[in-house]
Amino acid sequence: MPARGAKGDPALAALVRDRQDLVGDMRRFRLMKIDGGCHCGYITYEAEADPEKVGICHCSDCQKLSGSAFRTAIRVTSDNFRMLSGEPTIYAKTAESGAKSAQAFCPRCGSPIYAARFGDAPKFYNIRLGTVRQRDQLVPKCQFWSRSELHWLPSLATIPKVEKQERRTEPRSPA
Ligand SMILES: [Zn+2]
Ligand SMILES: [Zn+2]
Repeated sequence: MPARGAKGDPALAALVRDRQDLVGDMRRFRLMKIDGGCHCGYITYEAEADPEKVGICHCSDCQKLSGSAFRTAIRVTSDNFRMLSGEPTIYAKTAESGAKSAQAFCPRCGSPIYAARFGDAPKFYNIRLGTVRQRDQLVPKCQFWSRSELHWLPSLATIPKVEKQERRTEPRSPA
């Protein structure tokens, strides 16, 4: 019997279509409604995000641009991202590869908001996790640029903790 491809066999083609629909449904089902904004409240946004797309970056650019030890972001597709208020300022960062990315931050309070491909119609927005209201539920799934990870990060759990403000005997809170 000659082999027939999905195109030649309507039943098989329907089965393939069903399966593709199912995969699409599962992706949509996994999407989580998130929202957030900058510290001063000028910039607000909302998005539908896949909780699997949370990552940490230890590269030195992310250390500098976040002003922190590493950066955490969640990637959303552009059709799932909406700015609700405010107009971010864009810093065009040039990567080692020469590619430019738009680093968006609040012009009033300086909170980093997202990064996207520089220019028109970016496909993705990498939202800075610290600005997302639901951030505690969004656990990172991967760490990039571990080569430049600060050496003391793995021992974070052993560093003494103060529940709120500093006690008189502790070093001052950096906030
Ligand atoms: Zn702000
Ligand atoms: Zn980075």
